[in-house]
Amino acid sequence: MIKADAYGHSAAVIADALTNWSHDHLEAPVVDALAVVTIDEAMAIPRPPVPVIILRPLESASIVRQRDAIRLAIDRGYALSVATPQGAGDLARIAAASAVRADVQVMVDTGCHREGTSVEALPKVLAAIESYPALRLTGLSTHFVCSDEPANPFTAEQLRRFQTATSAYGRAHCGVIRHAANSAALFFFPSTHLDMVRPGISLYGIDPTGRPCCDRPLRPVLKWVAPLLMIRPIQKGESVGYNQTWIADRDTRIGLVPVGYADGYLRAFSNRARMIVRGKPAPVVGRVSMDYTTVDLGGIPEAQVGDTATVLDCDPLSPASVYALADLAGTIPYELFSRIGSRIPRVAVDPADSQENASWSIPASASKAKSA
Ligand SMILES: *Cc1c(COP(=O)(O)O)cnc(C)c1O
Repeated sequence: MIKADAYGHSAAVIADALTNWSHDHLEAPVVDALAVVTIDEAMAIPRPPVPVIILRPLESASIVRQRDAIRLAIDRGYALSVATPQGAGDLARIAAASAVRADVQVMVDTGCHREGTSVEALPKVLAAIESYPALRLTGLSTHFVCSDEPANPFTAEQLRRFQTATSAYGRAHCGVIRHAANSAALFFFPSTHLDMVRPGISLYGIDPTGRPCCDRPLRPVLKWVAPLLMIRPIQKGESVGYNQTWIADRDTRIGLVPVGYADGYLRAFSNRARMIVRGKPAPVVGRVSMDYTTVDLGGIPEAQVGDTATVLDCDPLSPASVYALADLAGTIPYELFSRIGSRIPRVAVDPADSQENASWSIPASASKAKSA
């Protein structure tokens, strides 16, 4: 799942890593397919050597506006999703007009009640697809709503509904791949694996429970850093930032970091979050503004202009980890990642060069106890 610019990680970088790098003597790409939500997302990544699935169903309301984009996606061999017989018909006409066959996927709604086709409407949609020679069904899927709750029986119920709705069709059409599991189902419900799985957040090293957990060997792959642009002394009693929300209680030094809420560093982090400078936590003081954040360097006298401030740490136990920041803002890692702004360049780093900062790691036995 590389939707939403690979959860903010850069779809181009991630698609490249998943399909072009060698992994442990494996000759083939580590993934069998890539999935995005929109046609624009699919067209923005360099053409990968594996199938691309576009998940958002084509709807008549947008088909006129998207006609050219749809044609280009079909030409690239990307699989498009439909949810209604009308959507299938529209897609078939566009494919037929360019004399090509379009791959089609259908998501079955088993309880999410979002974009999928209802179990009742599914036979009509499948019949419509079969009636058009310009369409070829390549996948049937469903999406779980609470697979991150291992004790919740609704995941098994959704799987049962999906199996009932699709197993006869799947048997009769062997080219049709059935897929259901997101990251949480991948770990907690092995019976949901079917023909293919669709991990998203875990691909980026984040535990689907939203807490770091030693039971699963996941490690965040993204680290967001920025330079300390300026350092200025501040006297006791002086304020920092908009509306004077922070007043120095002692003489100190304030570091200026060129990252603000326009970059996805939330205003809710004002006076609450910490960045990491020289391996130590530097508290965010004053309001996070659109383009800047200020940190108190009072406890880090060795900090200098040009030092690296770690805005979002890849150590899962760091006070600047995505887990810690999501907690502070009352949200989840998915949202923080997908908000990282377009001003922030994403660069791939060789894993060999990033074997650093285990500074926050506590012994496995201790963190295991914590997560239990
Ligand atoms: C985003 C998404 C996923 C991946 O979910 P994660 O929880 O990130 O693993 C899987 N399937 C669909 C349909 C999605 O939209």
